[in-house]
Parts: sequence; structure tokens; C-alpha cells
Amino acid sequence: MAEGFFITFEGIEGSGKTTQINRLADYLRKNEHDVLISREPGGTELGQKIRKILLDPHFDTMDYKTEILLYAADRAQHVKEKIKPALKAGKIVISDRFVDSNLAYQAAGRGLDYEQVYQINNWVIGSTWPDLTFILDIDIKKGLERARKLSFDQAGDRLEREVDDFHQRVREAYLEMAVAERFCLINAARSIVEIEKDIKNIIARRLF
Ligand code: ADP
Repeated sequence: MAEGFFITFEGIEGSGKTTQINRLADYLRKNEHDVLISREPGGTELGQKIRKILLDPHFDTMDYKTEILLYAADRAQHVKEKIKPALKAGKIVISDRFVDSNLAYQAAGRGLDYEQVYQINNWVIGSTWPDLTFILDIDIKKGLERARKLSFDQAGDRLEREVDDFHQRVREAYLEMAVAERFCLINAARSIVEIEKDIKNIIARRLF
């Protein structure tokens, strides 16, 4: 492969992104593809420090502008240090969240101006847009219940503590963007194996 292929996974907390990314990577590696798994925020060493700040419940008065700029800083480093070099080396890069998370959480969720959020991200990522984005869609109560079961702190991190309205706006924003060509909408309320099968079929059609 001369150039790599960039896949991102999006969806609310607990929609199954991590689970499906690991399964997809196993499948691709079995088919002898070179795969890099990463995530946002925190895909780089610098990004891990930013992630700690972003998820820390102590910062419950964080300004929305501060928040989006922290995500943008994390993403800039992630693109430069990890994603771009891996794609250049012909790898398949899979990122757990990317630019669409900002559009869903910061624009739809927080109410920041969509165009401004888009422009900040466009500036940060340049030409490194995903080739394919899976949106794992699930009822917010079901998703958050799954996420909270995993959470060490049952009260949840700064984002998990947001009220239901916020997560509902995020879910709806994802559903709206899913109509564009880059996206594949996946019903994530089904079993892990059923979802995995769908994702593998879509990837096989695109890559093999
Ligand atoms: P995300 O990365 O989107 O937050 P995870 O993949 O971490 O979601 O999944 C959250 C929890 O839900 C995990 O305990 C995982 O095992 C479980 N889970 C994932 N997918 C499913 C599914 N389709 N059905 C039931 N439980 C699931």
C-alpha cells in the first residue's frame, strides 16, 4: 500500500468503540495489514497530560473555549507525531475518537458555533481527514450504563457526569452527520459479534 488508510470510531461513551477497534485490528492483522491503534484525547505522551486535565472532575468550571483548545492541542500533536507518519508508512490507522467528537460534543453538546469548531479542526488536521468513520449508535442510557460499569470511580469522569440532555444532543449530532459519505452508521445496541461482523464486511469491501 503506497498510502495508508485512516479509520475513526465515534459514538457516545459505552457505545463499544474500544471493543470493536480491538476486534477490527485483530482481523486486519490476521490479513497481514500493518495496523496502528490510537485514541483521543491522549494518543501521544503530551496528549496524555492533556487527557488528564480534560477528564479531571476537579475542573468542573472549565470554560468551553479552554476545553476545545485543549482537544485541538491534543489533536495537533496526535496528527503530527503519530497519524501522519503511520499513514505515510502505509499503515491502517484506527483512532478511537477524532475530529467528529469535537463537532458532536463541543458544537452540539456544549453549544459552541459549529462553523468555528469545524474551522479550528480543519486548521489543526490539514489534509488528514479520516477515510472512513464508524458511528456506533446506541440509546444514551444503555451506553452510559455500560460505560459506568467499567468506571473505577462510579460517579464517572468529567464527561460521564454530564446530564442526559447533553449526551442526547451528542447522539443526535452523530446521527445527523452519519448521512455524509465518509460515515457508516452502526446499530451498536446489538451483540458484540453482530456488530463486529458488520464492521468487518464494510472494511473487507473497502480494503480487500
Ligand atoms: P467505548 O469505548 O465506546 O466507551 P467500550 O468498548 O469500552 O465502549 O465498551 C463499554 C463496556 O460495554 C465494556 O464493558 C464492554 O465490554 C461492553 N460492551 C461493548 N460492546 C458491547 C455490546 N455490543 N453489548 C454488550 N456490552 C458491550
